[in-house]
Amino acid sequence: MAEPTPSGGADPATERTIRLAGFDRDGIADGPGLRCVVFVQGCPHHCPGCQNPQTWPFDGDAEVVTPSQIRDRIVATELDTGVTFSGGEPFAQADALADLADLLRPRYDIACYTGYVFEALLKKAEEEPGVRRLLERIDILVDGPFVQARRDRLLLFRGSGNQRILDVPASLAAGAAVWTKDPAWVGEDGSARAEI
Ligand code: SF4
Repeated sequence: MAEPTPSGGADPATERTIRLAGFDRDGIADGPGLRCVVFVQGCPHHCPGCQNPQTWPFDGDAEVVTPSQIRDRIVATELDTGVTFSGGEPFAQADALADLADLLRPRYDIACYTGYVFEALLKKAEEEPGVRRLLERIDILVDGPFVQARRDRLLLFRGSGNQRILDVPASLAAGAAVWTKDPAWVGEDGSARAEI
């Protein structure tokens, strides 16, 4: 019988790798509660006003890690709320993040930010199986680019008003974007705005 790996089953020698721009062990801005946030390196969208332009270059200064190494960091935080994938552009590393999601579910709920709109991801998924794999493994998708003209500081967990907070299983089932009704994400009144 093979020796179990320290990471709990995944074999580091054969795992895909993730180019990591950063890791926040107790973020409060990228979803409800204290969440671990995995920032990936590389983004093709280049939104004017982006707060993380250092994450744009795909050949930028990134730590290269396996999904099981990140899972171990997340478990070590002893937080049991959720994990958010952010960027950079998570769907540019969709297969490796889908592997990470497999290691995290069902213990953690998983949210993902993307500069693509959901409809574009569905189209992309026809050519790129990894995009479909990642969509099938996340609970919440905050979609769309940051649009400076629609910036609004009172929005919950979003930078600009064009972005949506989607229930991914419901959206996949409908084949169309479905907003989440989870009050933790959109508030008790469903407005997805912070109280003034
Ligand atoms: S998608 Fe996100 S990380 Fe990429 S440029 Fe836009 S705001 Fe920045």
